[in-house]
Amino acid sequence: MEILSNRINTLPVSATLEMAAKARNLKEKGVDIIGLSLGEPDFNTPEFIKEAAINAVKDNYNSYSPVDGYIDVKKSIQNKFKRDNNLAYNLDQIVVSTGAKQSIANVCMVLLNPGDEVILPAPYWVSYSAITTLSEAKPVVIPSSIDVDFKITPKQLENSISSKTKLIIFNSPNNPSGSIYSESEYRELADVLKKYPNIYVISDEIYEHISYGSKIFSFASVKEMYDRTITVNGLAKAFAMTGWRIGYIGAPNWIAKACNKMQGQITSGANCIAQRATIAALDAPVSKIKYMVDEFKNRRELIIGLLEKINGFKINKPEGAFYIFPDISSYFGKIINGKKINNATDFSLFLLENAHVATVSGNAFGDPNCIRISYAASQEQIKKACSRIKDSLQY
Ligand code: PMP
Repeated sequence: MEILSNRINTLPVSATLEMAAKARNLKEKGVDIIGLSLGEPDFNTPEFIKEAAINAVKDNYNSYSPVDGYIDVKKSIQNKFKRDNNLAYNLDQIVVSTGAKQSIANVCMVLLNPGDEVILPAPYWVSYSAITTLSEAKPVVIPSSIDVDFKITPKQLENSISSKTKLIIFNSPNNPSGSIYSESEYRELADVLKKYPNIYVISDEIYEHISYGSKIFSFASVKEMYDRTITVNGLAKAFAMTGWRIGYIGAPNWIAKACNKMQGQITSGANCIAQRATIAALDAPVSKIKYMVDEFKNRRELIIGLLEKINGFKINKPEGAFYIFPDISSYFGKIINGKKINNATDFSLFLLENAHVATVSGNAFGDPNCIRISYAASQEQIKKACSRIKDSLQY
């Protein structure tokens, strides 16, 4: 008899991975699928980072690293925080992990008790709610919409706070909307939180370098919030290193210490080769990865132009990351090609089956009116995908 824990039985399957699996299934059957569902740069890791990893192998880096990361890796992270974010962290405030996902999971596991509430401004990255649930806490979602550039207001934040609120997770630039909170918007939200000293903040800044002009403001640089904010970042997106699995936090030292303890029992230190490569990535001037950001920007212009021409698509202009999150709710209730579209999941499945383009339903991100399209794909693929989407919706 298979008797699994309630923990795993109630855990949702990652919607982005589920969609990728469905697309792969169709591909295996010979269908020419264009995959725009995954959040993964389509570039190779830059040569200078690969070389650092090769040298690490040759230099016999093969042993366990300290659980929270090598000291010199943490020094590079410390310098990066100072250089890019004007944030001063001591080395004992920094923990290196196996991806930003683990960094976030560590923080949730060490801060949350059963019944605590975690505020998630929607749209939010899918794993925030799953990790909250795994930590036996309750997600409290603040809705937003395309009409307000997918951002929440201080009033909404204040209204969602209860005596059980322990944590709020901000993500700017945002996955899936691409929206960026300006310094003044973040300061206004911080003004609300200043009144509630028992609420902590995760600021997920993993897309910070993939921004198309807007300045990135780190939430922890609000002076009064520094002691209550955990800044999360990682190498996956900006350096095209999703598979290398390096994430890190800058946090109050008691939280960093607890994350170190948690990680010590679950995974130990992050991969030693990838950690050595981290020094090369973070010490390099940000200009070294500009060619990727420039190309993402070109693709953004391309996809906005193409999607705007499709009937019923309401488009936002993403300021960062490599996703666009159109509102497609005008299709709800319609029958296309004999298929009734009741919600964003139906719409996303319709596109997979009829246009052979993989996207992700906004339901997974807490916004039932939208779908997420990743433009981390070649311009050719983007053109082909948009043309197929347009054709499939002619009815
Ligand atoms: N935060 C956000 C907003 C993300 O989109 C992702 C990756 N999809 C992560 C964290 C996780 O990053 P990593 O691959 O470093 O675990």
